[in-house]
Amino acid sequence: MNTRSAGKRHVPGGVMAGALWIAAGAGWTSHVPPAAPSDPVAAPDFGGAICGEKMSTRAGRVPLLTILWDPHRPEHPAPPAAELDEKLYGSGPSVASWLSENSGGRFTIERAMPLAWRDADFKEDRYWGADPGDTDGNGFVTGHVEKWAEAVRKADENLDFAAFDTDHDGTLQPTELAVLVIIPQMGTFGTMRQPAGREVPAWEPLTVDGVVIPYVTEAYVGSPVNLGVLCHELAHLMLGAPDMYFSSAWTYAPGDLSIMDRSYTTTHLDPYEKLKLGWLTTTVVGGPGEFDLRDVERHNEALVLYDRARGPGEYFIVENRLRGTSFDAGAGAAGPGLAADGVAIWHVVEDPAIYGALTVPGVDPGDWGRRAVRLLRANGGNQWDDAGAVWNTPGVVRVGGSASLPWIDGTPSVFGIELLSGAGETVRIRVSVRTDVAPASQKQGASSTSLPSNTP
Ligand SMILES: [Zn+2]
Repeated sequence: MNTRSAGKRHVPGGVMAGALWIAAGAGWTSHVPPAAPSDPVAAPDFGGAICGEKMSTRAGRVPLLTILWDPHRPEHPAPPAAELDEKLYGSGPSVASWLSENSGGRFTIERAMPLAWRDADFKEDRYWGADPGDTDGNGFVTGHVEKWAEAVRKADENLDFAAFDTDHDGTLQPTELAVLVIIPQMGTFGTMRQPAGREVPAWEPLTVDGVVIPYVTEAYVGSPVNLGVLCHELAHLMLGAPDMYFSSAWTYAPGDLSIMDRSYTTTHLDPYEKLKLGWLTTTVVGGPGEFDLRDVERHNEALVLYDRARGPGEYFIVENRLRGTSFDAGAGAAGPGLAADGVAIWHVVEDPAIYGALTVPGVDPGDWGRRAVRLLRANGGNQWDDAGAVWNTPGVVRVGGSASLPWIDGTPSVFGIELLSGAGETVRIRVSVRTDVAPASQKQGASSTSLPSNTP
């Protein structure tokens, strides 16, 4: 989908169609509040599929089956089942309350079955090894694949999986019943996998009670139990959230501002994922105006800066992050939170033709999570300084020295942002709209421009 076609640009002295598009003269028009700062009729549904579906709405309470499976490795003692139950489903810091807070009460999990440790059938070398010739004839050649099947089949002794197949299609999607296998380990790790009923002589899906289990997530939960790894891994399984961490330096890394980057924190999802999950109330801003933006942790609101002339292939999301008593403040020994309060500005590139053409070290062209969601860091791109990633003092936001937020090709967008107040429960934000930007025909093609160092 080409959303960048030329033809409609802001023209000094002109007025574009729609209430949003005010172009009363060259330069900044920030002191002219529009009659209608948002225009829900004209704007696309940013929570839906813009250039292909990335994630989709999640609502209600989804049952989560947690299987505690212990191979009794001496150096990795199992935490009490009650502690894990509290970390998953409890009313204190838990996955359930983290999901509820992130979604503004729209989505959470419920316990599918009481938690109890189950002993592995064999010792650890069986599961952390391989049996290439299937010498024991049990159909498994990979220890970990045997482990997932064994754990699910043990749970099947006490659970009717078919009862959760609400659409009766013979497959238990994670939106019907999510399956989590927890394994004791001092260090945290997690992964989402496709289990098998057998691997040889021919691969077969894992089927219990007549229904296929297409995915399981396994989590090595740490000691003390790390809440973040559970939230992160279950976000993959239950929300379809992508990873956002990088193996090398990246100017636009979300850092602590998204748990899909820093899995050991208890911080929130980034606003793009919340938007696609149907968890945000957004004000679409196409013209100049002033806005009181409340903290996203308690109010689930954000601004979407949308230039209709540019199209919905690129836009900006502005959120107000405030730790307070939220999960963004951390949860004690269960995981750290944000380093600072402030306004986070995200650049979203929805169009695969644009983000797929970027040069991002070590990242596949189709990896939209790492390519399409870019934090415009107040510190100029230092991904290890998250205290400096947000804007939290009054003044004009400058990115790369410019008061215009940059498009992906480095050219200035029409949008400028000024904080009229410092960090807090409500931040007053002035959005300015330039009317003197170059027409589209003078723009360069997409490239992998980096932000130069800047001073906010
Ligand atoms: Zn992950």
